[in-house]
Amino acid sequence: MMTDSKTIPTTLIPGDGIGPEITESVVEILDAVNAPFAWERHIAGMAAVDAVNDPLPKDTIDSIRKTGLALKGPLTTPVGGGFKSINVTLRQEFGLYANLRPTKTIIPGGRYEDINLVIVRENLEGYYAAMEHTIPSDGDPKGIALSGGYVSRKECNRIVRFAFDYAVKNDRKKVTLVHKANIIKQMCGMFLEEGRKVAEEYKGRVACDERIVDACSMQLVTNPWQFDVLVTTNLFGDILSDQAAGLVGGLGLAPGANISDKAAVFEAVHGSAPDIAGKGIANPLALLLAAVMMLRHVGRQDLADRIDSAIKSVITSGEVRTGDMGGKATTKDLTAALKQKLV
Ligand code: ATP
Ligand code: MG
Repeated sequence: MMTDSKTIPTTLIPGDGIGPEITESVVEILDAVNAPFAWERHIAGMAAVDAVNDPLPKDTIDSIRKTGLALKGPLTTPVGGGFKSINVTLRQEFGLYANLRPTKTIIPGGRYEDINLVIVRENLEGYYAAMEHTIPSDGDPKGIALSGGYVSRKECNRIVRFAFDYAVKNDRKKVTLVHKANIIKQMCGMFLEEGRKVAEEYKGRVACDERIVDACSMQLVTNPWQFDVLVTTNLFGDILSDQAAGLVGGLGLAPGANISDKAAVFEAVHGSAPDIAGKGIANPLALLLAAVMMLRHVGRQDLADRIDSAIKSVITSGEVRTGDMGGKATTKDLTAALKQKLV
C-alpha cells in the first residue's frame, strides 16, 4: 500500500497535565496510519516555565511560524508571575481569527443522536478585546464597572466568509448567523450586516439563516439537528461551543482548531485536567479528533476517514471506554483498541 513518508513539518506541543499522555496516544495512532506529519517537538506552558522560565519560548513560536501547522496539548498558564495567557498570545502572534469547533455525536444511545454541527467563533475581537475599567459612583471609588468590546467590519466579513468557505469545502448546506443585534445594535449589527452581504455572494450554493443568540441557545437544546454551520462573535461562540460539547458527551470528545492564513493550531477543547494527570486514564479522543481535523486540513481525508471509523467502531461496541465516557479503560487500552480497529 502507501509508503508515504513524513513530508509535512508539523509542530507538536505535548503540553501540561494529561497533555503528554494523550499526545503519546495520538502520535501512536497517527503513526499506525502512516500520517504525513514530520514532528518538531516543542515545549510550552508549565513544562516550559520549569525548563526555561518562559511559558511560550521563542523556539516554539519560530517552529510554528515555519511549519504553519501545530498540534497542541492543553497548556497551563501559570497564575502569578505576570504571565499572559498562552492561548491568547498564540492567537495574537499568528492572527488566528477563526476558531472552529465541530460537534458530532460519537457515543450512541444518548439523548442527542446524530448531531453533526460546526461552530465558527471569531477569535480576536468582541468582548475579548474588552477595554475594562471602573469609575467612581455613590461614594465608592469603583462604584461602576465598564466593559466595552469592538468588532471591525473587515473582521466580521472575514469570519463569515470563513464559515461559508468551510461550508462549501465540507459539503455543508447552511450557515446560521448568530447575533444579538436587537440589543447590541452597533457591534452585533455590524456583524449581521456584513454576514448578510457575504451570504448574498454564496446564494444558491449555501443557504443562510439568522438567530438571536438566546433563541439559538434554547434551540441547541430543543432541536440541535436544525443546525449545520453556525458563525458568531467571540463571546457568544465561546458559550455556545461549550454548550454544544455538552450535548454530545462533554469535553473529552471536543476538538477545536484556531486558523488564520499564517498558521493552523489544532487542539483539544479541554484543559490540562490536573485531577487525573499522570494516572493513565485520560480520554485521548478530543486530541485525536483534533488530529483528524488536521489531516482533513492537509487534504488527507482518506486517513481522517480511517481514524474516524476506528473511533466509531470502538465507541459503538462500548467495551473500551475511559472513565469520562462511563467505562473503566485506560488511555493505553483505548489506544490499543483503536489501533486494532484501523483498517
Ligand atoms: P485547566 O486549568 O488546564 O483548564 P481544569 O481543572 O479546568 O484544567 P479541565 O481540563 O478543563 O480541567 O477539565 C475539567 C474536568 O473534566 C476535570 O475533572 C477533568 O478531569 C475532566 N477532563 C477534561 N479532559 C478530560 C479528558 N481528556 N479525559 C478525561 N477527563 C477529562
Ligand atoms: Mg478548564
